[in-house]
Amino acid sequence: VTERTELPVVRKTKTWPIIELFGPTVQGEGALAGTTSHFVRFGGCDFRCAWCDSGHAVLPEQVRANATRMDADTITSKLVALPQAEWVTLSGGNPAMQYGVEAIIRPLANRFLFAVETQGTLWKDWLGLVDMLTVSPKPPSSQMAEKSQQSLAGFLAKARERHSSETMCLKIPIHSEPDLHYAAAVKAAHPDLPFYLSVVTEMGGLYGDFAGGHIDAIPDIIARWRWVTETVVGDPRFVGVRIFPQMHALLWGHELGH
Ligand code: SF4
Repeated sequence: VTERTELPVVRKTKTWPIIELFGPTVQGEGALAGTTSHFVRFGGCDFRCAWCDSGHAVLPEQVRANATRMDADTITSKLVALPQAEWVTLSGGNPAMQYGVEAIIRPLANRFLFAVETQGTLWKDWLGLVDMLTVSPKPPSSQMAEKSQQSLAGFLAKARERHSSETMCLKIPIHSEPDLHYAAAVKAAHPDLPFYLSVVTEMGGLYGDFAGGHIDAIPDIIARWRWVTETVVGDPRFVGVRIFPQMHALLWGHELGH
């Protein structure tokens, strides 16, 4: 009988499902809007937002078809090989579904600043290592508001153990009027955190049926941006917010790789 201690040790290298890895491009929204960034898009999400434009990173059958499993060495080598950018943004899907991402962040900590965007449902300790944590709870138009609200306070309490208002912010997508009421309530509950409103771009939605499957043209994006801006600027609940459209949608529409 072979003793357990004599068995060869098989170490399985940790890999993650990567949908896209590209850059440099511009960060299109939130606290880092306008900065240059690479993007690593992880597959998998615990939400199904009605207007989500990233079905390829969310729906399991699409993730299975689109993801390449990569280990930390492969991901860090690919990022280093790209022309230099200031930031690396870890996105998804929900990147906070993934374990062990410190193995990607730590080796590159002297080369890039790291940003994460997550809806604030699943805390992982590696989220404490990043230079900007954007927490983006989802409002009523996403049809995920109830689920979002259940986890937000607990997630932010964990995040505050590792981050200050210098390195974390809130960003709420806005598509329609009820979203503004939701955003105002979140802002009132967390008045110390930088607060961004991000104007939703209609891209057909996760199942191709959001707003009748409509795809925004540039004038549509600008019209909704204008509506949000004109509604918000005179509202005392929103003093201190910043309002952005999705700049990447204005520049490149729905093209992958931006
Ligand atoms: S919008 Fe974000 S949180 Fe919502 S389904 Fe898409 S990737 Fe997930």
